[in-house]
Amino acid sequence: MNAFSSSSPSIIGARGTGIARAAVIGAGSMGSGIAAQFANAGIPVDLLDIRGPDSSPNSPAEAGIARQFKANGFMHPDAAKLVHAGNIDDDLQRLSQADWIIEAVVEKLDVKRDLYRKVDSVRKKGSIVSSNTSTIRRSDLIAELGPSFEADFLITHFFNPPRIMRLVEIVSSPENSTKLVSRAKAASEVILGKTVVDCHDTPGFIANRIGCYWLAVAALEAKILGLTVEEADTVMAALGMPRTGVFGLLDLIGIDLIPHVWGSLMSALPASDDIHAYDLPADPVVQGMIAAGQLGRKAKGGFYRINADKSREVLDLSSGLYRPEAPVDAAALPGKGRDLVALLQAGDPRGLYGWRVLSRLIAYTAHVGPEIASDVAAIDTAMELGYAWRAGPFKLAERCGMAMLAERLPQGGQDVPSLLASAIRNEGFYDRNTGSALRTDGTRAQPTDKIDVLTLSALKSRQPKILGNEGATLWDAGDGIACLEVHTKMNSLTPAVFDALEEGLDRIASGFRGLVIGNDNPRAFSAGADLSYFVDLLRKKDWAALGTFLSRGQNLFLRVKYAPFPVVAAPAGLALGGGCELMLHCDAIVAHADLAAGLPETKVGIVPGWGGCTQLLWRGQERARDADDPVSVATMTFETILAGNPSSSALDAWGKGLLRSTDSIVMNRDHLIGRAIQRAASMANAGYHVPDRSTIVLAGPSGKHTLMGLIEQRREALRFTETEMAIAETLASVLTGANGISCAASEEDVLALEREAVIALAKMPATQERIEHMLVTGKPLRN
Ligand code: NAD
Repeated sequence: MNAFSSSSPSIIGARGTGIARAAVIGAGSMGSGIAAQFANAGIPVDLLDIRGPDSSPNSPAEAGIARQFKANGFMHPDAAKLVHAGNIDDDLQRLSQADWIIEAVVEKLDVKRDLYRKVDSVRKKGSIVSSNTSTIRRSDLIAELGPSFEADFLITHFFNPPRIMRLVEIVSSPENSTKLVSRAKAASEVILGKTVVDCHDTPGFIANRIGCYWLAVAALEAKILGLTVEEADTVMAALGMPRTGVFGLLDLIGIDLIPHVWGSLMSALPASDDIHAYDLPADPVVQGMIAAGQLGRKAKGGFYRINADKSREVLDLSSGLYRPEAPVDAAALPGKGRDLVALLQAGDPRGLYGWRVLSRLIAYTAHVGPEIASDVAAIDTAMELGYAWRAGPFKLAERCGMAMLAERLPQGGQDVPSLLASAIRNEGFYDRNTGSALRTDGTRAQPTDKIDVLTLSALKSRQPKILGNEGATLWDAGDGIACLEVHTKMNSLTPAVFDALEEGLDRIASGFRGLVIGNDNPRAFSAGADLSYFVDLLRKKDWAALGTFLSRGQNLFLRVKYAPFPVVAAPAGLALGGGCELMLHCDAIVAHADLAAGLPETKVGIVPGWGGCTQLLWRGQERARDADDPVSVATMTFETILAGNPSSSALDAWGKGLLRSTDSIVMNRDHLIGRAIQRAASMANAGYHVPDRSTIVLAGPSGKHTLMGLIEQRREALRFTETEMAIAETLASVLTGANGISCAASEEDVLALEREAVIALAKMPATQERIEHMLVTGKPLRN
């Protein structure tokens, strides 16, 4: 299924989910975000809100669409065309078209129930209806609605913002058909890109139940033990809870929400639940802050505040007054903030605080575990994806060590819950060999093995390594396909990575049918060439070695392009500079939807020199084949490279000419490697032909003239410096071949221009300054 036009890349698997059209009711921050995510996957969606004034009855829903434009909810501006605004009075009938209707209106039981009656009167048979409620139980929502509605009704609890947060908690019931539940789960994963966690029908489901308890314990124990806000936040961050720590996160949530969110959770839970021992809404500090309007980041400050003069202050928990911030370095904690056991065993207040919070969290989670979920992995995943913890509570328990928990919990007067006792008997919550998790009834769950969720780490656990070094490893991915995993810092392309790829291409030619280049790194496919190596050559002014370095990359990437087997790139996160150039040489790209690809070389004073200019021109020419206009191709390529900004999504990368319409997009990060392997195998099955050598039609002097005109136009508006003028002009020369190359050029001809341009620019002191600055600060310098 194509995203939103016949020429945009397809979204893999979207068609197979059975959701051809969706509807979302409630266009607030959640509803409009969910609708935008359907549209990002190419699914048309009706977004209905209450009726506005007669002059603009759809204005509430339209405001939701506008909000998503502002909040970067859309992956491409054209995606918004798939969201059809409406109102619940005039457009109710539109719901009859929807295969999945998601309710995301205000958190009020009567409003939601009233709406369900209306929805049920028009929806088509077998359509999924789900609520995005964050607190109300499924059983309460559907009371009195009748069996056919009950059978099709689920809770699908998304997190804010819906494009970014990967978790969706699903509550189903035996009344639902397994087919309907599977359809909703598949659509959540494949279309919306989420990781599904099954929850039981209990207040706050999993993440908010455990998250609210943790925040209350962590905030109130800090006060009891006399820790400062900064100390508590540093300890929590060191335990792998969010980097904001506890007080930073409360500021983000909003202090005014504490009485509502914690209040409603506490009133829904029995008095025996330990959350009542940590009554956050009743805390005088919290109440004082609400009274004083110190509501967190949305107001003038909360536990932290930044003054007009940029000075930072922190609330003193005992006096309630602000004082200058006194940051605590994690390295000053026992165990230097890295050794969890050393921290928890330290007898100082910070170590004691870490133990008090963590031990209570683990005991509570083990105690309520059977009530809220069927297996411990669901709870860990919910906390990792819903609250951005590096590891969920049961993984943290394993890191503490079962023996320490068994010994110290009773010493502190705490029970050892039976789930924890089972884990102690089983030597952990997860099986060390299979990775399978304990069920919350204490038995062992069987590992699942779905091809769609094939990550590289899963593949590596069962497939052999072919070759490798400190920079990259080539894995046998099965089915005749090999997978190259780069594993340097931010996956930058070092000489060792080139060694592995060079050797790998030979090995694949003699025993495999295809290659996938990708990894599991959440941040980067590859952040580009290894700048420190590049800088070293510049410092030595070794221009011959620089030329060799450029030729080596160019030749290697051409070998990738013309290899006798298909090569598929599987980029996610950053694919910048050299990483982007590698991707551009592959036969196909299977990209994660949130891809940040780009060629930022001009920002460090050079132009792309490993074939980036050449391949982008070639791709532009392919796209414009009918128009056959080398000047417009050169102009588009020039704009993309000169701006140097990474794409905001895979669809934006397509808009910039980096992806082709034959490339494809995967909404779910965990599906990426598996889908890329399938693509390589199907290309091999279809009888792969090595592409013909590309001939690039250069725009020549008249093209250069056009580009120089563009540069002149922008010179003032963008306040180009002399250095930037020189970089822009050099780029224009490469892209048009203005300095004497005939109009039909080979790739080698244009690659030679790239090399000459990079070396000429690298000799400029201003470029050397730019690169050194980038290396030290990670930020571009405009000189
Ligand atoms: P919101 O207040 O931003 O938006 C609610 C929208 O629903 C408003 O635009 C309102 O006009 C509309 N609405 C109210 N009654 C309606 C009706 N009868 N018919 C049609 N539209 C109606 O709320 P939100 O933050 O987007 O939350 C929506 C739901 O999602 C709630 O159930 C909330 O608990 C849940 N939730 C919120 C978050 C979050 O972080 N905001 C996270 C997860 C779940």
